[in-house]
Amino acid sequence: MTSIDTERFRDALLEERKRVEHALATLREEHPGSLDEEVEGVAATNDSHLAETATATLGREIDYTLGENSGEVLAQIDAALTRIEDGTYGTCTNCGSEIPSGRLEATPWASLCIECKRIAEGR
Ligand SMILES: [Zn+2]
Repeated sequence: MTSIDTERFRDALLEERKRVEHALATLREEHPGSLDEEVEGVAATNDSHLAETATATLGREIDYTLGENSGEVLAQIDAALTRIEDGTYGTCTNCGSEIPSGRLEATPWASLCIECKRIAEGR
C-alpha cells in the first residue's frame, strides 16, 4: 500500500476527465464533416486562395491530433480511476515501484514510474 491521498487524485482525475470530454465534444461539434470534404469545398469556391486551403488543412490536422490525444488521455484517466478502486494507484504498472507524488501531481493518470516511462519512450 502507498501513502498517497487517492481521494485528492480521484477528484483531480474526475475534473480532468470532464475537461477532456468537453474538449472532445467541442471538437466533434465544430468539425462534423471529414477533412477531404472541407478542403475540396474551399478549393472549389476559392481556387486562387491556396493559402486558405492550406490553413484549413493545417487547422484540421491540429484538431485531429488534439482529438486523438484527448481520447488517449481519457482512456488513461479511466485506467487510473480503476487503479484507485483496485488500490494499486500510484504504483508503476510495469515494475511495481511507487510513482513519485511529484509525478502524480503533474500527471495524475501516470501509470509508469519515471524510469519505466523513459524506457517505454525509448530514451
Ligand atoms: Zn516502473
